[in-house]
Amino acid sequence: MIYLNGEFMPIEEARIPVLDRGFIFGDGVYEVIPVYSRRPFRLADHLNRLQDSLDGIRITNPHTNDEWASLLNQIIADNEGDDQYIYLHITRGVAKRDHAFPKGVLPTVFIMSNPLTTPPKELLATGVDAITAVDNRWLRCDIKAISLLPNVLLRQMAIDVGAVETILIREGFMTEGAASNIFVVRSNSLIAPPKNHLMLPGITYDIVLELAAANGIPYEVRKVSEYEIRNSQELLLTSSTKEIMPIKRLDGKAVGDGAPGSMFKRLYQLYQTYKNTVMRGDTNNN
Ligand code: PMP
Repeated sequence: MIYLNGEFMPIEEARIPVLDRGFIFGDGVYEVIPVYSRRPFRLADHLNRLQDSLDGIRITNPHTNDEWASLLNQIIADNEGDDQYIYLHITRGVAKRDHAFPKGVLPTVFIMSNPLTTPPKELLATGVDAITAVDNRWLRCDIKAISLLPNVLLRQMAIDVGAVETILIREGFMTEGAASNIFVVRSNSLIAPPKNHLMLPGITYDIVLELAAANGIPYEVRKVSEYEIRNSQELLLTSSTKEIMPIKRLDGKAVGDGAPGSMFKRLYQLYQTYKNTVMRGDTNNN
């Protein structure tokens, strides 16, 4: 069951007009929200980021946070599985094709949910391969825009060589992955690039830094050079659906000793514990 513009229906019945500006221009924003035990995880953070994305492209938020929460709860209840991930998508609506914003047009709102399958233990035990590429995206990567053509092409470069992610480099510094944030470990310290308009402010990125701070793990937030990602003890990838994953090889060369390291193991455990605490309701789910 999905939600489209005020109605709940089976996905097969959902239709949007071809003149939707999402279809014509990629003119919209989206969110992906993990759901554990039928509860959206860090919902307030996701809704804040949604608001920032909407502000970034000048669409008025069609719902209050309470309305979003009740729409999401309905979708979660109508779909199978305790663990799901919600995809929420807003476009500027349907109008005659013209770059200029249309007047008096309502945004299109689409919400669906799919089963959430977090990375299997076997993959976490070995780690995954990544490659690097020049970050050729626009300068507002902080907006979670639905126009993802560069990300699609960059991610496919990894898939074509049997890797899972492409780590992006802009002017000598690492920004993020094609669909993830990237952390580096050097001298036993976790290093994260600072949030700016060149990367998506990941919710999982925030959680990892919060866990590091709360557990006495040394960390720095600063620019990460290409040299540093090529000469690191560990490389970690984070996203709402992949949680935390270790990268074992970069451009075919072993990262550290080529196996998941102690920083990954520690953060992975802390993340699972945190997740369970939040889902039991012992900690505020932001
Ligand atoms: N960067 C990009 C480009 C992404 O698409 C994503 C989400 N898939 C992330 C970072 C990670 O963000 P989050 O932790 O909020 O899922």
